[in-house]
Amino acid sequence: MDCGEGTQQRMMQYKVKWFRIDHIFISHLHGDHYYGLIGLLTTYNLLKRLQPLTIYAPALLKDIIEIQLRASNTKLNYELHFKETKDDGLHLLFENDYVEIFSFPLEHKIPTTGFLFKQKAGLRKLLVEKLEGMDVDKSNYKSLKEGKDITDRNNNIIKAEEVTESVSHPKIYAFCSDTIYTESIVEYIREADLLYHESTYLHESLNRAIETKHSTALQAAQIAKLANVKRLLIGHFSSRYLHLSILLEESKTVFENTELAIEGEVFRV
Ligand SMILES: [Zn+2]
Repeated sequence: MDCGEGTQQRMMQYKVKWFRIDHIFISHLHGDHYYGLIGLLTTYNLLKRLQPLTIYAPALLKDIIEIQLRASNTKLNYELHFKETKDDGLHLLFENDYVEIFSFPLEHKIPTTGFLFKQKAGLRKLLVEKLEGMDVDKSNYKSLKEGKDITDRNNNIIKAEEVTESVSHPKIYAFCSDTIYTESIVEYIREADLLYHESTYLHESLNRAIETKHSTALQAAQIAKLANVKRLLIGHFSSRYLHLSILLEESKTVFENTELAIEGEVFRV
């Protein structure tokens, strides 16, 4: 998500596996959120990437990238797909067997979206004791685990719900890049296991936050509390703060389970 200047350097520094990236989500078109993209796209070309890459972003990014490629007479070896994001509600952007990814509107100086990653419930667990007395072929177990009803050897319908149980609580990660304090996002991020929320300023600079449509550490914590999330990760700090602990402390006065989004740290959902 987002691709600021220096992305490639950080990918090298933290040994990110370059070819595991097939989808890039850009929240909005302020430079600090996408100026690293053209470099990354052309590096992929030099690395002879062949697998398609999809970018989810406001519509104008397609024009920006295309003109940069055209100006340098670059023809990509791989397919580059653009999917336009819209800041007018919840939209499903991507789905596979494991996860659903949505965009939702934030409130900033230009059209901006957050992203919501929802894990799908994993395979269900077979209730062996219930299956024992039934005449079910073992080749049907996979379908049952996937939640599909099957028929036994005597053509009776066996409901997956009755002979399996769901396993774990599917995880939710919500990413809120640049936004002013707005309770309108709460409905989208409710009960997230991990919420990343920007916290550019301390609350003493609330006026500056309002002017630039950013949030304070205190406000990020208020959103976390209202949305009843489990953990809060704050980031996007103004360079005026040399010691980030004051932002962390401010957030913790409202929402104890807060952590600082420090570059290079890994946070498990
Ligand atoms: Zn911005």
